[in-house]
Amino acid sequence: MPFDGGGQAYTYTVPSELEGEVDVGSLVRIPLGKRHAYGIIWEKNVVPKKEIIKKLRPISGLRYDAPVLAPDEIKLCEWISKYYVAPLNSVLQAVLPSAVRQGVRPILDKKISIAHKLSEEEFSKLQKKASKQAELYSELSTNGETSRGVLKFSASVINSLIKSGIAKETATKVSRVANDADDSPAPTLNLTDEQTVALDSIKQSIAKGKYQTHLLHGATGSGKTEVYIGAIREILSLGGSAIFLVPEVALTQQTVDRLRRGLSGCGTQVVVWHNKLSAGERFDAWMDMIHGKARVLVGARSGIFAPLKNLRLIVVDEEHETSFKQSETPFYHGRDVAVFRASLCGAVCVLGSATPSLESFYNAQVGKYQLNRMPKRIDDRPLPMMRIIDMRREILRMQGQTTFSRPLLDAISDRLQGHEQCILFLNRRGYSRALICPTCGHVLSCPHCSSPLTYHRTDQTMLCHLCGHAESVPTRCPECGEEDLRKRGFGTQRAEELLAKFFPDAKIVRLDADAMSKKNEFKKILSDFREGKIDILLGTQMIAKGLDFPRVTLAALIDADVSLHVPDFRAAERTFQLLVQVAGRAGRGQLDGEVIVQTFTPYADPIQFAKRAEFEDFLEAELKRRKEFGYPPHRHIIRHIFRGRDERRVEKTAERWAEFLEQHAHGLFEIRGPAPCPTGKLQDNFRFHIWYFC
Ligand code: ADP
Ligand code: ZN
Repeated sequence: MPFDGGGQAYTYTVPSELEGEVDVGSLVRIPLGKRHAYGIIWEKNVVPKKEIIKKLRPISGLRYDAPVLAPDEIKLCEWISKYYVAPLNSVLQAVLPSAVRQGVRPILDKKISIAHKLSEEEFSKLQKKASKQAELYSELSTNGETSRGVLKFSASVINSLIKSGIAKETATKVSRVANDADDSPAPTLNLTDEQTVALDSIKQSIAKGKYQTHLLHGATGSGKTEVYIGAIREILSLGGSAIFLVPEVALTQQTVDRLRRGLSGCGTQVVVWHNKLSAGERFDAWMDMIHGKARVLVGARSGIFAPLKNLRLIVVDEEHETSFKQSETPFYHGRDVAVFRASLCGAVCVLGSATPSLESFYNAQVGKYQLNRMPKRIDDRPLPMMRIIDMRREILRMQGQTTFSRPLLDAISDRLQGHEQCILFLNRRGYSRALICPTCGHVLSCPHCSSPLTYHRTDQTMLCHLCGHAESVPTRCPECGEEDLRKRGFGTQRAEELLAKFFPDAKIVRLDADAMSKKNEFKKILSDFREGKIDILLGTQMIAKGLDFPRVTLAALIDADVSLHVPDFRAAERTFQLLVQVAGRAGRGQLDGEVIVQTFTPYADPIQFAKRAEFEDFLEAELKRRKEFGYPPHRHIIRHIFRGRDERRVEKTAERWAEFLEQHAHGLFEIRGPAPCPTGKLQDNFRFHIWYFC
């Protein structure tokens, strides 16, 4: 299977000198038409058609001594290609890092040592003939083997001494795998009863040696990480290997560090796989896995393709996170690939979350996954109280600004006085400008999609981004008649300005996309926060997950409506997840925590269920709603995006395609749209989409 080309495999013969060397998964050089290319051996011992036997050409070279893919990965690639409708070679490009496909030069440590000991007579001869070489000889005999780079002799002196057979050079490969992290073993904790029960259940599946997925539904702070570590240690003791996926390494550094320390002493290297690795580091890590030197990989989405042999466990932490979904070809979902790969290997898959995705919860309900619950926090620390602030009432008392309600300001100032810390979240997504009534909280929604309509200023319409339904902007609220309808949307920057005005003495730091892109800046802010140098941390939901700061006693969501009223059938689920994650940040230490949520729609399902901490009730209710509207997990949705510079042409093409599909649907699937995408114009391209439900 060549890396470039149409995703089609070709047949070659194996030349005699490579007989027994190449295997399925080997990276080889091949002639392709008039040029040379590289590719992966997909299948062996193929019987070619008679007519082409004579034309077959031999493989021209083998790149590495071992296959670069694990045996199950060929089938995995084929499944991804089919399921996500992507050409096989594009799948291969996602699976195999380019550092491996293209190769990187190994770093060699070249050492010089003495090969032939000189007699005194020989030495004095050398001294006369070439005094520098003799000096080098003396130095080598006192110091022993020395790196070439360390020697203060010119290359020609060194080379001459080697040429005459007196010295020799050996080269060893230097690993680029970074090893600066803290690997001191973590103290072993006595597992709680809940942790023990969950771990035992996973160990039972491991002992059976068959595929099984577990859904570990554990509250924030219930100690899921210890359960993962226990499961991985078990696998390592059985000689197997494991993959541990996290949404994003930089954001989950604490978990990654705990895992590394929890596994130190297990006799294996742990590969930390993230997007800041250099090509060389990537290459070396890959080779370490192929050769069995590393048996655990911790990483984000693409870590699921680790070429680990004897893969027996895959853990996906925070399995509900959207960042597991790849947003370019192949559009795979890391969690779903994890489950499928586990089934190919007969491995155990553990999906963990405080807020499982509806898909996973549904699979547990119908018995496909085994559900393990850990509802209690460690030490029975109470989940923090959640206060819902009804902004319809508060807005009247807020004197012009619409960001911070009185109760929230009071709560912040209490914390500042008590030298406790606050985390404030504001999740601003540019396009989500829903129309909301400040009096009754009514949100203008599509009659067909249970999705809010989006305000378009240019043509003064309210538009549904799922089905294209359009109506004019109402002059008054259809529910209560209020005339002052508000478009919702303000950002973190403005919130920061306001905060600084209210609390001039507080140290406030905003964590946004800029800070995220600079890895060290992000780390610095978090460590400053941990050390108490920052009073208020203000950020988007990116910082809602995984952080564990014992002195945080107030977590607040400034505008819960931002994620609730967006044109996405998962909006309620996302909002619920966000609320639970936000609540999970407060009261993790000895101090009790409080959570404040500001909203214009206090009675919306996700808010009420989150307030009462009724996790499974929310999931049940939401599953019902999904069924009513025909959304996943009850049906599949496929989305086609059309894009181009000419808006009318793009729309026309999408319409024609929708008509064509309609004619061939035969009741097998239902088509909605075309409609403009929520991001209607991207990089000068107009975008329209069609959804089909099947
Ligand atoms: P989760 O991932 O479920 O939110 P964590 O794994 O982060 O929870 O655990 C929360 C806190 O409890 C961490 O500080 C962890 O070190 C601690 N912890 C976990 N298990 C135990 C245990 N058995 N005994 C004592 N402390 C524990
Ligand atoms: Zn609609």
